[in-house]
Formats: sequence, structure tokens, C-alpha cells
Amino acid sequence: MQNAAFAALGLDWVYIPWGVRPEAFPRALEALRRIENFAGANVTIPHKEAALEGLDEVSAEALSIGAVNTIVLRDGLLVGHNTDGEGFMTALREEAGEDPRGKRVGLVGAGGGAKAVACALAQVEVAEVCLFNRSRDRAQSVVNHLRKSFPNVEFLALGLQYFGPDILRRLDILINATPVGMEPSDPPLFDYGMLGEELLVCDLIYRPAETPLLASARLRGCRVLNGCGMLLYQGARAFELWTGLKAPVPFMRQALAQGEGGSTASPTGPA
Ligand code: NAP
Repeated sequence: MQNAAFAALGLDWVYIPWGVRPEAFPRALEALRRIENFAGANVTIPHKEAALEGLDEVSAEALSIGAVNTIVLRDGLLVGHNTDGEGFMTALREEAGEDPRGKRVGLVGAGGGAKAVACALAQVEVAEVCLFNRSRDRAQSVVNHLRKSFPNVEFLALGLQYFGPDILRRLDILINATPVGMEPSDPPLFDYGMLGEELLVCDLIYRPAETPLLASARLRGCRVLNGCGMLLYQGARAFELWTGLKAPVPFMRQALAQGEGGSTASPTGPA
């Protein structure tokens, strides 16, 4: 996706994968400073939280999320950003045609992806974010952190066992921010037969393009949104931070579709 964007704008740049073990991460950050013509990097699991420590500056956004997914080298300083939340919000608007202001949102998970999405939703003043997580304590500590920055939004922290028809009926949007559904053998997070057709159901997972959650939601008449749009738009924002140029989104979308073999959304429900 990034290399397709560089090619589309005629930039002699390259984006390469670099596998780094957790214990080597601080040394890897230092090594980045010494690469000639280095512009920036993405950081992914399991380094997103650790990156907060080793950088020279961190954006307000990344600080309030508590995780970094993009690094920019600016005037010799390594600066951390987080483009995941913005990526999700752009996908929600552009691909699902949804304006989440004033809506009640259920978010499953309390890791880096969930925190970025929860922050972005709180910034546009959704009415409520209910965090469901396997370990309720982790959801509670995320909620405690968010309450300080967003006093106008109602936050709830619940264990996964609280999923039921009553709580689902209160929600307008349901988002999976766990890896459950990446493998065909994953047991479902809850009984997907409980999903009501009025829900917009989103999954941050982009491979497979349709998880069992999204497949069940689509069959029940819900609008659905997979993680491909978030992946695209978080990458487009990172591209803009590194290059200062407008991202050639159609080229990036095409490169992703070729790589994944799937479309980004079915905003209007069952095809
Ligand atoms: P993470 O920080 O490791 O958090 C994972 C979360 O999932 C935790 O809350 C964990 O609960 C929960 N979880 C893990 N296994 C579970 C299971 N078997 N049952 C129930 N809950 C489980 O991961 P992340 O970075 O937030 O990523 C989560 C997913 O979002 C991944 O699939 C990732 O690929 C996707 N993602 C996509 C994008 C995109 O651009 N589309 C961006 C970011 C993330 P505990 O707290 O109880 O362990």
C-alpha cells in the first residue's frame, strides 16, 4: 500500500518490513536515527505501547490513546503519532456513511486498537462507549483513563459475560477490537444470533475480509464494516505525516485490494 503510494507520486522512497523482538525494540529505535534519508516508520503489535517510552516527542493524540503506531523523524527527533483512531473514523464516515455523534457504541476489547477507536469516538462526542473485555479490570482501567479526557461521554466497563439481547438493543454500533475471528477455529465472542438488524457491526480485523461476526451480522440484515478501510486510512494519514503530501488513496486502496482479495465495506447491508 505505501510502496504503491510512493510509486503513484513518483517518489524514490521504499517501505520495508522489519521484524523486531520486544527486547531489541529500544536498540531498533536508536538504529532508526542512523539510517540515511530515513523518514519514518509504523509500529505494530507488540511495540505500540513500548514506543511511547523511547521517542523524543509524542503527539497529544498518541498520549491520550497510550500507544504509537507511526513514527516521524523531524529535525533529528523521533516523534510518535497514532493514526488508528482517525483511520477508523474516516472508514466509518466514508465506507459506512455513518455519523457516530450522539450514538451508543459497544466496543469489544481493551487493547491498542480499542483504545484508539474509543478515543476517536469520544472526540466526536458519541453518547456512550461501553467497553466489553475478557478481563474486566483492563476495560475498567481504560475507562478510568478516558473519563479524565472526555467528561461529556458516558463510559462503561463490562466483562464479556454481560453480552445479552438487552444490552445489545441499547446499542447503535458494535465494534470488535479483539483478534477473535482471524482464525476459522476461534470460538465466537458471544451468540451472534442476538444481533438486531438495526445495528451497524464493525470489525477491526481485515484478514479475513469477512469474519464470522460480520458474516452473521450481514445475514441478519445489519450494515457491516470490516477493518480494511481503517487499515487504508490509518496508512494514508501516516503517508501524509511522513511526506507532507496528500495520500493517493485510490492507488493505496487498489494495492490493498490486490493484496487481500477483498473489498473494504458493504455499507448498505446484505448484497
Ligand atoms: P491487543 O492490544 O493485543 O488487544 C487485544 C484485545 O483482544 C484485548 O482486549 C484482549 O483481551 C482481547 N482478546 C484477545 N484474545 C481474546 C479472546 N480469545 N477472547 C476474548 N478477548 C480476547 O490487540 P490490538 O492491537 O488492539 O488489535 C486487536 C485487533 O484489531 C487485531 O485483530 C488487529 O489486527 C486489529 N487492528 C486492526 C487495525 C486496522 O487498521 N484495521 C488497527 C489496529 C488493530 P484481554 O485484555 O482480556 O487480554
